[in-house]
Amino acid sequence: MSIPAEGSVRPAAWPWPDDELHVDGALLLRRLAAISRIGARPGRGITRLGLTPEETAARAHLAEQCRRDGLVARTDEAGNLVVRRPGPARPDRPVLLMGSHIDTVVDGGRLDGTYGVMAACEVLRVLAAHDVELAYEPVAVAFTNEEGAFFPYPFFGSLGLVGRVDTDHARRMTANGVALPDALRAAGGDLDAIADAAWPAGSVAGYLELHIEQGPVLEQAGVPIGVVQAITGRTILDITVRGDQDHAGTTPMWARRDALTVAARAVLAIEKLARTRDLCRVSTVGRISVDPGTTNVIPGTARLTAEIRDGRADRLRAAELAITTELAQLAEATDTEIEVLPARITQPVATDGALSRAIADAADGLGLRHAALDSGAGHDAQVVAALAPIGMIFVPSRDGISHAPHEDTDDTHLVAGADTLLRTVLGVARP
Ligand SMILES: [Zn+2]
Repeated sequence: MSIPAEGSVRPAAWPWPDDELHVDGALLLRRLAAISRIGARPGRGITRLGLTPEETAARAHLAEQCRRDGLVARTDEAGNLVVRRPGPARPDRPVLLMGSHIDTVVDGGRLDGTYGVMAACEVLRVLAAHDVELAYEPVAVAFTNEEGAFFPYPFFGSLGLVGRVDTDHARRMTANGVALPDALRAAGGDLDAIADAAWPAGSVAGYLELHIEQGPVLEQAGVPIGVVQAITGRTILDITVRGDQDHAGTTPMWARRDALTVAARAVLAIEKLARTRDLCRVSTVGRISVDPGTTNVIPGTARLTAEIRDGRADRLRAAELAITTELAQLAEATDTEIEVLPARITQPVATDGALSRAIADAADGLGLRHAALDSGAGHDAQVVAALAPIGMIFVPSRDGISHAPHEDTDDTHLVAGADTLLRTVLGVARP
């Protein structure tokens, strides 16, 4: 019930006799173009929000395409489309799951999520067409509402698959006057029966997600395949600087306790955590507010947030400790008060070593250069990790752009990523 250990992933008999198996690249690209029309608005990208009629139309379109390919597609109680090869179900055989999501953000691109889903369905089509004998049953999934752009319940579909939807919370949720339970029913799901969408422990041997990078690293490096090591974790700190509110004209500079000038130093210290000290991958101050916020008043209070991200929990903690210590020293030196409160901590999720090696081997077998990197964005894989080992494949994003109409990837990279997914499945699941 587990992924083969290192060494058994790539047996001595490599290459396989069916080493020449490939996805149909032209078909994949045509199908990507076809589904991209659903929710598209001229000049404004694609708006296909989770659990809305646009996403439901895309799911129906995909289900129909899979059925024409001879595959078996059904929508589960959480609104996910689950696609299998035909033939008798083999409950004794663990599943090798592959997929992503088909919802988008507002005015989003055509590839985020959808590319991974379409590639997974193409891989499944090839495996079914050649009746490839596998130790794990390959299954494709199109998760619903990963983005949470309409109903603010991101990862809804993958949470349903691992049995972690908070039904009380979901039952009360509305967006633009639409209740989530009604929207889920219209999408083919059923909140009252959502427990049936959960897969039992041990039923999934591994989950593979192919996705665009959504950043510039692979393109800059000229590398077509990224092997994701971890999905980034995130710590958000709420910081409050308290000084003295006073008259901007009559208070001499030596008598001031200006909360904003101290906050400005805090902003630079937070930037340095990643930029020069390499304590974490990225660090950002995205929000700052000043009280009272008036031209002729020395600010008495400044509030800001620090957001730090890294793929390793120990580095996140070290960066948090470093900034907390430094801000305490800053308060001392400036005779102000600085309060630092952790607001939200999301732990990083590591990918599985054996699956990552299988992805790298697959790329090697195809003559594709690959590089290890972390994912700076969240993905369904981090949720599925609660149920099974995960592996993620990235392809380059043109100019690093994502969540925007101009999100794009070269056709050759799209096809190479899908072939890498196919070859990874063969490497992991061949008996
Ligand atoms: Zn995505």
